[in-house]
Amino acid sequence: MIPAGRSAATGGRPSGCGGRSGVDWQQRADVVVIGTGVAGLAAGLAAHRRGARTVLLSKADETATFHAQGGIAVVLPFTDDTVESHVADTLAAGAGLCDADAVRSIVADGYQAVATLIADGARFDESAPGQWALTREGGHSRRRIMHAGGDATGAEVQRALDHAAATLDIRRNHSALQVLHDDTRVTGVLVNNSDGLGVIHAPSVILATGGLGHLYNATTNPEGACGDGIALALWAGVGVADVEFVQFHPTMLFDRHGSGRRPLITEALRGEGAVLRDARGDSITAGVHPMGDLAPRDVVAAAIDARLRATGDECAYLDARGVERLEQRFPTVTAACRRAGIDPVRQPIPVVPGAHYSCGGVATDVHGRTELPGLLAAGEVARTGMHGANRLASNSLLEGLVVGGRAGRVAAEHAHDAGSPMATVESVERDALDRTELQAAMSRWASVVRDADGLDALTAALATATPRPLRTRADVEDVALTATARVVAAAALARTESRGCHHRADFPVTDPAQAVSRTLHTRPAVCLP
Ligand SMILES: Cc1cc2nc3c(=O)[nH]c(=O)nc-3n(C[C@H](O)[C@H](O)[C@H](O)COP(=O)(O)OP(=O)(O)OC[C@H]3O[C@@H](n4cnc5c(N)ncnc54)[C@H](O)[C@@H]3O)c2cc1C
Repeated sequence: MIPAGRSAATGGRPSGCGGRSGVDWQQRADVVVIGTGVAGLAAGLAAHRRGARTVLLSKADETATFHAQGGIAVVLPFTDDTVESHVADTLAAGAGLCDADAVRSIVADGYQAVATLIADGARFDESAPGQWALTREGGHSRRRIMHAGGDATGAEVQRALDHAAATLDIRRNHSALQVLHDDTRVTGVLVNNSDGLGVIHAPSVILATGGLGHLYNATTNPEGACGDGIALALWAGVGVADVEFVQFHPTMLFDRHGSGRRPLITEALRGEGAVLRDARGDSITAGVHPMGDLAPRDVVAAAIDARLRATGDECAYLDARGVERLEQRFPTVTAACRRAGIDPVRQPIPVVPGAHYSCGGVATDVHGRTELPGLLAAGEVARTGMHGANRLASNSLLEGLVVGGRAGRVAAEHAHDAGSPMATVESVERDALDRTELQAAMSRWASVVRDADGLDALTAALATATPRPLRTRADVEDVALTATARVVAAAALARTESRGCHHRADFPVTDPAQAVSRTLHTRPAVCLP
């Protein structure tokens, strides 16, 4: 450990521009993992098991992983399911923007990754002793979703990984503010904790920071899902791809006055027979798609959005009264509904589409490598090519497990080869818009359906953001929200077509010429005088 309060020696040219500032503490590691959800813990365990000195950072107790309900999509051996069938379903949902090789690679390693998770103590539901219970979700052509505790899969995945990682060096209430780097490689991370600002010098850093749902005023995402990892990558000069593809889950519990995190009503309910209707009792997806209520998420979300616009209704209804053993099979959903005063056994559940998942993210290969040596990304923050323009249900826990594990192994190897860089710290400030204002603008202009006028208005609103120094968790979240909103707006404006979960009212048709993934970079940091 390097003594506190001393500036680090320089190692290469400083990142960004401007003068150096002191920090309150400094440490060293081989691998720093930012995030302790499925991707971060899978990465941390893999790096640790390769012998790397690994530190995991988490700014909050809550993860999206904990809240996952439906399950993990996986092709079990010795069944009539096949990797090619899972790949085909994933490519179909991804609407021409998946990287087929990436999908095949990740799907093919799914069973091995789940087997490792089971060896680490995870328990999945069984239909008979020794036989996993499999359910079906939207866009899957067969039952291949493993689940736990009925609809509490994420809680079990988190529990098992937390348990397996219990002996690792996990730092809670540590917010990563900046990825530090020189001209050629990563050198560490700038962190805030209760002791102030610190640097962890490290040759390998893995972003596993999850999603960006809090760009919007209502989301299924936990508090803290503010796009931090996307912003950290952009500030390090690393590209992000396909960020216009924000998936809106068709069925978030409706609450007229609710904002922030809202309960998800899992798609698996529709897999078990629940049906979507409008306030008059008419089907919402009839005639829209051959798979009806089990169509891919973007199709169902857009159908609900169109019906609400046409009728002026506040919400749609998911009628789950016909689902057998509803309370036992879906205890999480039942409890969330009852907390909101709705009994799903007796009443249809009021639902609206809600910001749920970022299909795009930090551009990586299938091992989590970004364009900056030593910087990796895995889980929801990353864009591997798995999800394309629209993620298939239950493919993200799978991707987090598989790519998280791979990224951990690559990071450990890189650290072994790269030696011990010394990071330098810059005093930087970046733009932040008031959070409520930003969420209102994103919800109004960059939601399920967008158009050029709205996106221009959003861009203009974001241009009024003012500089803020980066010192606390709130600072990094607000500036990350602004940086992420800007890049989402720019990507959405540039994609003059409708594809996957990006729906343009002014370009309602898919344009075959735009079946390409797009990577964006951002401007250099603003420096303090
Ligand atoms: C309600 C809900 C239900 C879902 N159901 C399913 C499902 O059934 N199946 C499925 O496959 N997927 C599902 N998903 C999606 C899936 O859960 C997530 O995509 C996945 O868990 C993301 O994992 P992650 O490890 O990338 O991020 P997370 O689990 O969100 O973890 C992010 C971590 O990063 C940390 N962090 C973020 N920023 C910083 C920072 N600046 N400094 C330090 N730490 C930071 C957070 O504290 C947290 O520890 C669901 C999502 C939600 C919200």
